[in-house]
Amino acid sequence: MEQNRTSRIFIPFWFRPFLPVGIILLLACSMVGLFGRAAIGKAEAAQVSAANEAIELPAPTFPTPTPQTRYTICLDPGHGGEDPGSILTQGEQLLRREKDDNLRLALATKKELEKMGFRVILTQDDDSYLDTTERAQFANENDADLLISLHRNMYAGPEEANGIEAWIAHNKPAEDYRLCRLLFQQFEKLGYMDLREIRTGTMMDPQDDYNVNGLTNMVSCILEMGFITSDRDNELFDAYYRDYAKAIAQGVETYFNG
Ligand SMILES: [Zn+2]
Repeated sequence: MEQNRTSRIFIPFWFRPFLPVGIILLLACSMVGLFGRAAIGKAEAAQVSAANEAIELPAPTFPTPTPQTRYTICLDPGHGGEDPGSILTQGEQLLRREKDDNLRLALATKKELEKMGFRVILTQDDDSYLDTTERAQFANENDADLLISLHRNMYAGPEEANGIEAWIAHNKPAEDYRLCRLLFQQFEKLGYMDLREIRTGTMMDPQDDYNVNGLTNMVSCILEMGFITSDRDNELFDAYYRDYAKAIAQGVETYFNG
């Protein structure tokens, strides 16, 4: 019958007296295995935590990012290399080259801006020549947020001209104009600077742009930091160019951070 075919584990007759002992031994072995493994696990965990304690370092600290660290300022010392910019001569004697003043002011301004936490790039810092298209490309390629091109003015007319002037693109971009206004406010605070106009376009064509204004895709302006043909402006420049640098940096700071 089907019911009688219940499967039964065949245990040899001679083993039956040992059966309870066998079961007890089997249980004992498995208990040892379990606890043993748990014990090994604990030992391993203790080792790992000891290792962790050994290499435990103080929590890393990162400088708190300031708003300035997010902004890249491109300073463009005008002229350089074979191009001296405007020059001042007396007879045969060369008294002054614009490119030297531009670079001197750019390096001082870089220092001031970096103190404030800005990232500063210069189109050139070693008196090398780049044309104005290359300067604009440099600012664009480096994702500058703002460009200031530094120059000195000249005037060959009969009466003396002096003071600071700014140039922005012919369509008078609102942000470029705001930047210049803020820079001029800082120059005004110095108290001894003559402030001229914020001009648009170019000297030759009010509908055209200087390349650093027209070909750049960030806020930009050209600053003409006094006339190289004015003794007064030259004396001021030599005595106070570091203050000019601070004023420019402060104007930039105010432009971004109010
Ligand atoms: Zn120039």
